[in-house]
Amino acid sequence: MNIQINQLGYTPGMKKTAVMHGKLSDTLQVLDAQGCIVLTLPVSASRTDIWGDQVAEADFSALTIPGTYTLRCGKEASWPFPISEAPYQSCLTALVDMFYYQRCGGEVDARAGVFAHPACHTGPARIYGTEDFMEVDGGWHDAGDFGRYIVPAAKAVADLLLAWQWNAGAFAAPNLTPILEEARWELEWMLKMQREDGAVYHKVSCARFCGMIMPHEEKEELIISPVSTTATGDFAACMAMASRFYAAQDAAFAQRMLEAARRAWDFLQQSEPILFRNPEGISTGGYGDRSDADERLWAHVELAVTCGDEMYLRAARDAILQQDRSRVSLGWGDVSGYAALEGLMLPGDLASLCRQWILDGADAALSRINPYGITMTERLPWGSNMNISNDGMVFYQAWLLTGCEAYRLAAEKQLHYLLGVNPVDYCYVSCFGSNPMLHPHHRPSVAQGVCQPGMLSGGAASGMMDACAREHLQGQPAAKAFIDMHASYSTNEICVYWNSPMVALLAGLSK
Ligand SMILES: [Zn+2]
Repeated sequence: MNIQINQLGYTPGMKKTAVMHGKLSDTLQVLDAQGCIVLTLPVSASRTDIWGDQVAEADFSALTIPGTYTLRCGKEASWPFPISEAPYQSCLTALVDMFYYQRCGGEVDARAGVFAHPACHTGPARIYGTEDFMEVDGGWHDAGDFGRYIVPAAKAVADLLLAWQWNAGAFAAPNLTPILEEARWELEWMLKMQREDGAVYHKVSCARFCGMIMPHEEKEELIISPVSTTATGDFAACMAMASRFYAAQDAAFAQRMLEAARRAWDFLQQSEPILFRNPEGISTGGYGDRSDADERLWAHVELAVTCGDEMYLRAARDAILQQDRSRVSLGWGDVSGYAALEGLMLPGDLASLCRQWILDGADAALSRINPYGITMTERLPWGSNMNISNDGMVFYQAWLLTGCEAYRLAAEKQLHYLLGVNPVDYCYVSCFGSNPMLHPHHRPSVAQGVCQPGMLSGGAASGMMDACAREHLQGQPAAKAFIDMHASYSTNEICVYWNSPMVALLAGLSK
């Protein structure tokens, strides 16, 4: 379609903007389900967008009556879409249920349909370079593969906890498991990954990626890769954060997490950076990093917030003052933005610093927004939809702090992009919208020949990082470098930590 809209629709009160390719007509018509014209609205002058296309916009916010509609401009039409009070609820439910589908080490039951499977990846795992074994059952499969990695796990859990904090009411509709229970599935596994001295193993996986099979069919040896200070810092932060969320419902579990966080933090204090690279013979996801300063910063802040001890507060203060506070990063590689969001709960002047940090980051991002509402232009990284969801979270937090409408609208624009207002006209959540992503790089979906619902695609990536992308997307501008084929892992994989920020964004915006 040449008229892009949020394919899941809009609430009556939302600002609604359609993006059109080319100047199709001077007017936009809104048609109801019977095909009757209910509104005629002006279309903006077209302009050349950053990717060389002629783009025009039309504001149809005047459409507020619930129903199903289509937009028409010249000879072109949009997908049909609803106006309703809760247009994103079923999508949010599916995005959270994805974590249940990703479960490892336990049965995924018949509610998952063809994706049900018996417990997978159970039994002792060998610690790399030794003949020692540990039991590390549990957690979620990270992505389209079946590895389990601490670094992205911490981001995913933090996002789910923030989603709960921002709008617990958004999870009133029944999920396969309640969101805090689902996050606990991951946290219990993470606890098993801690060494006695407090350090945390970076990941557990087989030596290499398996074929397109179901999880319980992967029978190769499980290997626990060496510890890293990025994993240990993320672990300390995530555990200290989570201990607050579970204190009321299970004090013993909360205490266990806090003690684990303290031991991880103690290890960090006496350790030089240990930055992870795949050891010889291991070729699964690396989640390597150039610095552990941001993971340490996040750990200091969470322990300071949870415990209030002078020791943690001093460390948090020093790290915040040293931090570049011009942008708020919520990526797995740079988690410093979580220190900004959580630092709002620190005492007086530190909270003020974090508040300003968030607003400066949000303002800088606002200044980069393009006609599709996103902040990235010439280059989109692998997993760009995570960055877009993360930006949405930052805008949402800035709106919470100020009530400034521009931030809220920017947060909504990130959502609209993910759900259809993008140059490839896809709803990037599998099985949702009129033109959904349906062929992800996701082993169970390929193995069963049907797409698992509720997964956010990584989305457009300009680097041509797989053979499928190089074959089909060479020369495309950044935001069109997407193909809905499972072979294109660099544009169409799925991940727990891509779903998680979208869960947080949607939960917040549903309030
Ligand atoms: Zn498994």
